[in-house]
Amino acid sequence: MTAYRGSAKVDRILVVDDTPDNLFLTQAILEEEGYHIETFENGTDALAEIEADPPDLILLDVMMPGIDGFEVTRRIRQNEKLPFIPILLITAHDQPSVAQGLDTGADDFIRKPVNFDELLARVRSLLKLKHSVDERDLIARQREDFVSRLTHDLRTPMVAADRMLALISQGAFGELPEGMNEAISIMIRSNKNLLEMVNMLLEVYRYEAGRKTLSMIPVALCDLLAEVLEGLSPIAIDSGLALESNLDEFMDKQIVVMGDRLELHRVFTNLIGNAVKFTESGSVKVHLSAKPDRAVIAIKDTGTGIPPEQLDMLFQPFWSGKHKRSGSGLGLPLAQQIVTAHLGSIQIESEVGKGSTFTIELPIEQPAT
Ligand code: ADP
Repeated sequence: MTAYRGSAKVDRILVVDDTPDNLFLTQAILEEEGYHIETFENGTDALAEIEADPPDLILLDVMMPGIDGFEVTRRIRQNEKLPFIPILLITAHDQPSVAQGLDTGADDFIRKPVNFDELLARVRSLLKLKHSVDERDLIARQREDFVSRLTHDLRTPMVAADRMLALISQGAFGELPEGMNEAISIMIRSNKNLLEMVNMLLEVYRYEAGRKTLSMIPVALCDLLAEVLEGLSPIAIDSGLALESNLDEFMDKQIVVMGDRLELHRVFTNLIGNAVKFTESGSVKVHLSAKPDRAVIAIKDTGTGIPPEQLDMLFQPFWSGKHKRSGSGLGLPLAQQIVTAHLGSIQIESEVGKGSTFTIELPIEQPAT
């Protein structure tokens, strides 16, 4: 139930105590301050109401027959469907273990006999905490909705523009005047880059919001890496780079991980693609190996390297360094989200001027015994 005074929402406080006199007194004092109070004489009824209609604050007697205040606190904190609700424990004068209540997830405690000025001060401070947590959550939700709606809405006109430009360049609307082909190709390329960036942004936020569903299947890493290397080899050849691997060793004894093949393809394309992109001369080597329970994929380049102070920023969205080939800065954050969702890890070792090694570890699918 939401109570209002004028247009302002009134804070709703649940008071749980098995002594009716205590309940009556606390209710009278808090109502005097303008709060909306609901009272309960046992933990079970209080929990049912908290789950049905979460209040803004709970005042909870510790010693109660049936489930005590500690247990009520534990059940509230374990219930992931509930928003954050501050809990103020009311403990007996000689109750030794308030620490237990705080460890279970209560936010503060007050001893009986309750000093009412102290009670009101604690109520005000916990409600302040509640309001700031609610506000932070609201801003996070609005930001997430905004980004996912914006990126989603941007995709539609860009896909349409891509189709139109393809038709124009194919001469569907008549022959193009001189110089126009070049201009259309530039527009197609820019539009594709923009679409790619919007798609990646959408994916990053899907992972962040926990809205990404993975289709997990057994994935043979050697085949997957061979496919990625084949796709990138024309770019490596153009740049005069040697693109090497030890994949031949694994053709007969595949290393298999459980994963979403498309997503893992995206990770390796990004990391090996970066290695090629940020290497002026020399080589990019992909080395696959297996620990007892993990597959290890090391991607080693002889490129520009990354200064130590920049290593922490690599996985932040939109951080892209000053290299002339730097792009949107979304590839590595997305790669990390994907690898983490596969319960794996990415490590980086790098030396400026000498090159970098990105090492990915993924849990190996153990054969059924
Ligand atoms: P993008 O490549 O689009 O800029 P990424 O998130 O993939 O975005 O990479 C972020 C930045 O990290 C790059 O712009 C580059 O500065 C740096 N980086 C990534 N991989 C390498 C690498 N192998 N060698 C040197 N710098 C790299």
